[in-house]
Amino acid sequence: TQTTFIAVKPDGVNRRLVGKIIQRFEEKGFQLVAMKMIQPPRELVEEHYAEHKGKGFYNGLVDYLCGGPVVAMQWKGKGVIARSRAMMGATKDAAPGTIRGDFSIEVGRNLVHGSDCAEAAEREIKLWFGEDKIN
Ligand code: ATP
Ligand code: MG
Repeated sequence: TQTTFIAVKPDGVNRRLVGKIIQRFEEKGFQLVAMKMIQPPRELVEEHYAEHKGKGFYNGLVDYLCGGPVVAMQWKGKGVIARSRAMMGATKDAAPGTIRGDFSIEVGRNLVHGSDCAEAAEREIKLWFGEDKIN
């Protein structure tokens, strides 16, 4: 089975949507295996979104993610990487029924992050959880 990295971004925390977002993944049948709330340092966020460095929205994106506490999580289950992305909804114009589609109207305030492939999941889990011991 796969493990992925999911984060509730600061707007999700601010809007009290943490519970609702967790509930969707739990109801789907995925297992929450690690979770922490963290005010991420800028260098961590810059590294997290390194693939977007140089793009017009990069600095605003980093500011956004550093703008408050983030709930960082590891979720486990069959096909969790692609399936959690589908549950989050597309980056642009997420469909109703998805987390972004139901709760967000701005690409720059889209509540949730999910790893987009197995390599990204491994990299992001290392980056956000590092030495933390996970049972
Ligand atoms: P994430 O990586 O956060 O899970 P994603 O994989 O759907 O989102 P990416 O293309 O990786 O989308 O973009 C990373 C983040 O950058 C998006 O979640 C969004 O907040 C922001 N972003 C992407 N495109 C734009 C844009 N055109 N204008 C403003 N912000 C954008
Ligand atoms: Mg992405």
